[in-house]
Amino acid sequence: MKKPKLGQNFLVDDAVRHRIADALGDISQTTVVEIGPGHGAITEILARRAQRLICIELDRSLAAELRFRFRNDTHVEVIEADILQTDLSVFTPANGRIRLVGNLPYYITSDILLHLCYHASVLELAIVMMQREVADRVAAVPGTREYGLLSVSVQVHATVAALMVIPPDAFCPPPEVFSTVLRLAFHDRFDRYGITEERSFTSFLRSCFQQKRKTLANNLKSSGLSANEVRRLCEQAAIPPESRAEELPVPKLVALFLASQKDRVMP
Ligand code: SAM
Repeated sequence: MKKPKLGQNFLVDDAVRHRIADALGDISQTTVVEIGPGHGAITEILARRAQRLICIELDRSLAAELRFRFRNDTHVEVIEADILQTDLSVFTPANGRIRLVGNLPYYITSDILLHLCYHASVLELAIVMMQREVADRVAAVPGTREYGLLSVSVQVHATVAALMVIPPDAFCPPPEVFSTVLRLAFHDRFDRYGITEERSFTSFLRSCFQQKRKTLANNLKSSGLSANEVRRLCEQAAIPPESRAEELPVPKLVALFLASQKDRVMP
């Protein structure tokens, strides 16, 4: 089957779009950002409920269609833009954080999730639909095959829960895969791990998970660290160097990263 342009599988199941909107909770006093509103299946419900709604849509004709449809709703703003190039912090309300929603374009789901991580401090909650296999990776626990970069990157910032699994026939055209809606409840500022260099953390995790079968020490060595440096970092973070990254819980990987930052052994 030909892949739809820009991951455009539109939601046509009425119950599902309502359940997604309901999962945002009471949004009457909240700024909501929607990623990829498409023809407005979820947008229509949100526009009736949100204090302010900002829709980011890359497709020019869809953005124009929505702008026309909501032309009388001054609290709804449709922005024609690439979500990956959009600084979410500019939408932060004076009195709180943003709630975000999206039936994500599946071809860039991982990049969008990392983009959300880079904006974690301005986010309160995200209800996001993605391919089921990707959602399984985001929600995975240590010691499983799915646990990796995406799990740690997201779980460092948010508590992840799977809300529902959606079959292909809920969309038009139907995708070839099942989908899952995840709820990401972002930690408030007292519960964060103290990572300030988010992009460095991502590239550090890439090194740790580089080759799944290799030990953490070997993966870090192939990223340019000397054996001594690896030993010192592992000691500081109280991690046996022969561990594999996929066995380590999030706080351990964070401790290792923070040790590397302190020693400035990683970029
Ligand atoms: N929300 C609609 C729905 O549920 O029917 C559409 C969802 S569809 C899976 C993904 C939407 O994201 C499409 O409207 C597509 O044009 C839009 N999109 C694709 N890439 C994008 C990007 N980089 N930035 C913003 N929107 C994008």
